Amino acid sequence: MDILTRASEGIKTCVSCGNLDECSPCAYCMDPKRDKEVLCVVEDIADLWALEGAGCYKGVYYVLGGTLSALDGRGPEELGIDKVLDRLLSSNFKEVILALNPTLEGQTTSHYLTDRIRSLPELEKIKLSHLACGIPLGGELDYLDRGTLMAALEERKTF
Ligand SMILES: [Zn+2]
Repeated sequence: MDILTRASEGIKTCVSCGNLDECSPCAYCMDPKRDKEVLCVVEDIADLWALEGAGCYKGVYYVLGGTLSALDGRGPEELGIDKVLDRLLSSNFKEVILALNPTLEGQTTSHYLTDRIRSLPELEKIKLSHLACGIPLGGELDYLDRGTLMAALEERKTF
C-alpha cells in the first residue's frame, strides 16, 4: 500500500461542512475558538484552503462542491442547495458570506442562494454578504495572493 492510499483511507468528508479531514465533524467545525455565527460558503475545498491560508477568516465553512451549471446539467438538486438551507435553519448563524468565484457560474449560484435564503421567513434577519473588490473577473479564489484575498474578505458587501 502506498502513502497516498493510506492517507486517503484516513480522510473523511465532514458531515457538517464538506471539508476533508481525518475526523468528521472536521477540526474547523469542532474548534471552539471559531465563530459559529458566521458561515462562509465556498465552491470547493481548494477555496476553503485558500481562505484558511490567508488566515483572516475565523468562522465556519460550507463547501458546495461545485456551482450551478446549465451546461453541465447541474441544478439545485445535484448541488444539494437544500442541505445549505437546512444547515442555516438548524443553526444560529448571524451572517452568511457567499465566497463563490467571480465567474458566471459562481455568481449565478450566489444569486440563486441569495434568493432561496431571502425566500425563507425564518432567515429574514440573517446578514448576507459576498466578497468585494480585488478579485479579478474570471479569477478563482485559490489562485489569489493572500493580500488580495484578505482585502476581498474584509471589504465584503451586504447583498
Ligand atoms: Zn467541518
